[in-house]
Amino acid sequence: MASLAIGVDLGGTKIACGVVDIKTGRLIGTTKKKTRVLDDEKDVWQRLQSTIDELLAETNVDINDTLGIGIGTAGMIDRKKGMLLLAPNLGVSQVSITEPISKHYAIPCRLGNDLEVATLGELEFGAGRNLNSFVCIFIGTGIGSGIICDGIPYLGATGTAGEIGHTIVVPDGRKCGCGGSGCLETYASRTAIAKDILSGIEKGIGSTISEKIDLSKGIIRSKALASAVESGDQLVIGAVSKAARYMGIGLASLINFYNPSRIILGGGLIEAVGLYYEEALKETKLRVLSVPGRKLDIVKAELGDFAGIIGAAMLMKNNHK
Ligand SMILES: [Zn+2]
Repeated sequence: MASLAIGVDLGGTKIACGVVDIKTGRLIGTTKKKTRVLDDEKDVWQRLQSTIDELLAETNVDINDTLGIGIGTAGMIDRKKGMLLLAPNLGVSQVSITEPISKHYAIPCRLGNDLEVATLGELEFGAGRNLNSFVCIFIGTGIGSGIICDGIPYLGATGTAGEIGHTIVVPDGRKCGCGGSGCLETYASRTAIAKDILSGIEKGIGSTISEKIDLSKGIIRSKALASAVESGDQLVIGAVSKAARYMGIGLASLINFYNPSRIILGGGLIEAVGLYYEEALKETKLRVLSVPGRKLDIVKAELGDFAGIIGAAMLMKNNHK
């Protein structure tokens, strides 16, 4: 069956992989393992191999019946060399990925960035079907995007295009993990919402969510935000609305600049918190230029948790390098 490929989603908290029929997007089977911070390159290879082996055993698929292994990973990569250059979330850098994996299984292997492959998944089988210019934006603890231009991923001069989370919305604003300040993701991400809620609680404002925030890390789950919004928690409603407003400012700038035929929004915050999605849309409509604004088309991503696996498998399709 020449239409099967293996897709691997290598993230900061898990390695998930699946056998995908790349003609239909159908998942034959998936398997998932939690990751910890990885020790060295051997550790990376071993964890990838053990997850893939488990998948093959569970699905009863012979690896020689597949087109190969596509891997989408967090962090910065060199696609040509198949190398992971820097991945702070995984705890490793300068790791060759495709060569050892390809050698071990004696089949082709390709590497892509996690947002790029999730966008590929939406292009083939999700909300980007039949479109040739769109942008997928994923909002979570950070904010990243994938760009499709003329039907293929637009990667940019250094392969890092799509860093919408690091467009600057506040001069001299909050410090960002990238080393800059005032970046969109420091105001519009889930981390930004948690920060605002936390500072409200510290000022003595009451909130139903106070026991759900991990004070040491400032992490809060999208579902907890959603239930606090539903219960009418004013502190949470204010923080979510403020972050969504910044997202709308970012989206309007993106639409004015790139004029895509569609914007696809994904990630836990979009899936779980309706208020964020609605407020971001409202702000975008207020800010966008009138001509591109007439064709405004913003929708939710369709592939959810499996976008990474399906998109990574799509790296094995011929027309994507
Ligand atoms: Zn930044």
